[in-house]
Amino acid sequence: MDSQIAGSFQLMKSMNRSLVLNTIRINGSISRAEVAKKTKLTPPTVTNIVSELLKEDLILERNTGVSSGGRKPILLTINPNHYVIGVDVGVRKIRYALSDLDGNLLISKVQAMPLTIDEEGLLDIIIQLIEEILDDSRTNLDRVIGIGVAMHGIVDSKSGISLYAPTLGLRNIPIKQRLEKSFQMPVRVENDAKSMALGEKWFGMGKDDQNLISINVGEGIGAGVILNNRIFDGNDSIAGEIGHTIIDLDGPQCSCGSFGCFQTYASGQALRERTLKEVSLGRKTLLTDKANGDYRKIDGPIIYQCALAGDPLSIEMLEKTGRYIGIGIVNVIHLFNPSLVIIGGGVSKAGDFILEPLKEIVQSRALTSKAKESKIILSALGEEGSLIGAVTLVLSDMFVYH
Ligand SMILES: [Zn+2]
Repeated sequence: MDSQIAGSFQLMKSMNRSLVLNTIRINGSISRAEVAKKTKLTPPTVTNIVSELLKEDLILERNTGVSSGGRKPILLTINPNHYVIGVDVGVRKIRYALSDLDGNLLISKVQAMPLTIDEEGLLDIIIQLIEEILDDSRTNLDRVIGIGVAMHGIVDSKSGISLYAPTLGLRNIPIKQRLEKSFQMPVRVENDAKSMALGEKWFGMGKDDQNLISINVGEGIGAGVILNNRIFDGNDSIAGEIGHTIIDLDGPQCSCGSFGCFQTYASGQALRERTLKEVSLGRKTLLTDKANGDYRKIDGPIIYQCALAGDPLSIEMLEKTGRYIGIGIVNVIHLFNPSLVIIGGGVSKAGDFILEPLKEIVQSRALTSKAKESKIILSALGEEGSLIGAVTLVLSDMFVYH
C-alpha cells in the first residue's frame, strides 16, 4: 500500500513538473503567479517545482517583467542553452541534426546510406554521426537532453528496437540500448512516419488539431496517427502501416509479399512503374526527350518537371497517383475521422497535380458531407519532417507527461 501511495505521489509530481515546464515553454516568459493561474496548481507547488527546475538549470529567471507600479516581477524562461540530437534513418539517406528546445535545427546534415549494410554497421554509423555533430557544434554532452531516432520500417518504440527494416533487410537492431550505452542519455526511437506526424503536431501544420494523420508518400507509404495529441502505436507498433492496407484482392505483389497493397498503386515507385509502362508502349511524351533514351532516368522529379512543362502523359500519371492516394485517404478518414490529413514525402512535391484529383476522390467517396470536406493539406516541414519529428520525440518526453 505504501509503495502504491509513493508511486501515485511520484506520478503526480512528474505530471505537474511536465505541466509547469510546458507552460513556461508555450508562454516564452512567465511569472510564477501566472504559471499557478494557468496550471491551476497551488502557488507553493509551483514554487517547489520551479526551484527544482532552476537547480537543474532547465529554466532561468529574468528580471524583465512589466512592472505594475511596484517591483518588477521575476519571469521564468526555458534555458535556451540545451539541445536535442535528432537522427532520421531513411532507406537511402541518414539525416542528423542538433536542435534547440524550440525544434529549430541549428546544424543539419545528410549522409548517404551505404549500398549494403548489416545491423552492427548501421549502429556504428549512427554513433559516428552523433559524435560528429557533437564535435561540430562543440556542445557538451551534459547540455544535450536526449537523442531521438526516426527509423524507417517497423519499430517497437517501447524497447527502442528496430524490428524490421525490409528494404535494407535488417532485423532486431537495439538502437535505444546501444545509443544509451554510448552517450549516457535518454534515447527515443520511433518509426519515421509516426515521428513526422508528431513533428507536424508540434511544429508543423497540425498545431491546432488534436486528431490528425500525416501520410508520407515516398518510395513506400507510411502514416502516423495522432489521437488526442499523442502517437497511436497500436498493440504491436504497426498502427499507421497504411501502405500495406489492401485495396485490391488480386492486385500486384508488394515488397511485403502480399498482393494489392495500397502502396503498390500510390507510392513514388508505383508512379514510376506506371509511367514507364506507358512510355514503353510508345506514348508520345516529353519524358523520352528528358530521359535521352535511358528510361531508367525517368523518376518522380522528372515526371513533375514534364508535367509543369504541360506534358499530357506526365500530368495524367500524377493525377492518377493523386486519385489512388485519395482512395487511401478516404479509408483513413472512415477509420479515424481526423480533423486534419497532412501529406508529406517526395510525391507530395507534385503539389496541385496530385492534390486536386485526390480531393475530388474524397469529395465523391467520403460518407458524410463533413467527411467530404475533411481538411487535406501538404506538409510544410519538407524533407526534414521526420528529422524534426525525431527531435520532437525527446521534447515530448520532457514537456508532456506520458
Ligand atoms: Zn505490402
